[in-house]
Amino acid sequence: MSCAHGDPEDGDLIGQDGKIVVPDHVAEAIRTLIAWAGDDPTREGLVDTPKRVARAWREYCAGYGDDPAVHLSRVFEEVGGYDEIVLLKDIPFQSHCEHHMAPIMGRAHIAYLPRNHVVGISKLARVLHGFARRLQVQERLTAEVADCIWENLKPLGVAVVIEATHGCMTSRGVRTPGVSMVTSRMMGVFRDDDRSRKEVLSLMGMAG
Ligand SMILES: [Zn+2]
Repeated sequence: MSCAHGDPEDGDLIGQDGKIVVPDHVAEAIRTLIAWAGDDPTREGLVDTPKRVARAWREYCAGYGDDPAVHLSRVFEEVGGYDEIVLLKDIPFQSHCEHHMAPIMGRAHIAYLPRNHVVGISKLARVLHGFARRLQVQERLTAEVADCIWENLKPLGVAVVIEATHGCMTSRGVRTPGVSMVTSRMMGVFRDDDRSRKEVLSLMGMAG
């Protein structure tokens, strides 16, 4: 089924100014929201806001046009006998919660224990961003990153730990700034073997 409300797969129209052309109905929706929030969408400072917001959301949600598994398709077989944990630590990311479309800001630690091949280390971050640049819940983001590495690299183990703060908690609702949420997904040896799990958590700087 095709979707008239915008599908990144179809590509965006680019205007003469080099920017994405924002369809009228999208800009109108944002004007409606501004008015509903209590401001006047026709005042000078807000006139161009709907287009900016629309383009910003294209970036926030660029992950819908990305297949994260593709980043794991190029592997290196020659690992010089390396059979220890590969860890990419403290990867900053931004996502948006699917319940409020509020920002989720956090850091991820992604580790795997290679079976017989590895990927370029930056690819792990690309997988993260591919899933983070969508409307998300932190638990699903964590699981999607881990599953994608598990299925595509077929390693002996995968460990993903994400710590994040949620705009919908810090700036609205219960208003608890500074509170962060931690989610993790352990697969293979990191799930089944206590020693391996403790080792990877300590490398991540998390209490084992
Ligand atoms: Zn939320």
